[in-house]
Amino acid sequence: MNQRPSVFRHVVVLGSALALLVAAQQLRGQQPTGEPFTTAITKLKDGLYVIPGYDGAATGGNVAVRVTSEGVIVVDSKLPTLYDDIVNKVKSVSAHPIRYVLNTHQHGDHTGANAQFLKSADILMHRNARANMLTMKLAGPGRIVYTGQQSVFLGGAEVQMRYLGRGHTNGDSVIYFPDLRTVHTGDLVVWGKRSQGTILTPFMDYAEGHGSGKEWVATLDKLLAIEWDAAIPGHGPVLTKDQVRTFRSRMQTMNDRVAAFIKRGGKKADVAGAITLDDVGWPGAVRGLDGLYDELSR
Ligand SMILES: [Zn+2]
Repeated sequence: MNQRPSVFRHVVVLGSALALLVAAQQLRGQQPTGEPFTTAITKLKDGLYVIPGYDGAATGGNVAVRVTSEGVIVVDSKLPTLYDDIVNKVKSVSAHPIRYVLNTHQHGDHTGANAQFLKSADILMHRNARANMLTMKLAGPGRIVYTGQQSVFLGGAEVQMRYLGRGHTNGDSVIYFPDLRTVHTGDLVVWGKRSQGTILTPFMDYAEGHGSGKEWVATLDKLLAIEWDAAIPGHGPVLTKDQVRTFRSRMQTMNDRVAAFIKRGGKKADVAGAITLDDVGWPGAVRGLDGLYDELSR
């Protein structure tokens, strides 16, 4: 019998525990940052905070909070049930009132608390986003709209809303904080996982949002041409420019694959089943592929 002294057994146990730890860490390295899904308000830069959002249901979209000496500008309003939560979190970083709510687009996980905010703040959005809200009978459409570009100046800060073209919808605003070199992209960019664990993939909202998967790539090129070093996506962790470049190349790959499918005679009814993007990081179905099929067939 070759019984090892207990000190060796401990070393072996410790060794396998270490190996497990390393393996777990490597696994974690492949996960998107932002987990384990904190919804605490987080400082991104001086004067700019994020209230994280990971999905359309429980946590809504990412809210950006720009704090100035004359009041607060927030980007997007999550869900109706999260109004108090947003207000309380903003109170924890500023004594000033929320003066403006800027919406990236009309979807209910980004405009859900608009009706409550309208009682004390102005709401700004792209003209098409407002029109879409009216058609969809969503509560709290913006009072102030624009088409190309507009700015809010408050407490020495400028916050720009820029329309860069169609993508997720026909009314997506990119919110640009020029002094902080940061953008909020709305759902023109999504990244990482929903809080229930599935991977976020882009949604081409053709039916109600009049979006365009074909034009989305050019819209992202315009976004990448702006000077910034941090992007708050519609949902998920704050991203680098390289990560947004990766998102753009996935979008291009999707377009190329649908175009090739059409070229070899693929039928519209089969497109959703035929196009897989698991290998580029978008597992499962990307919503709106049949709309993209129509667009690329024209
Ligand atoms: Zn959306």
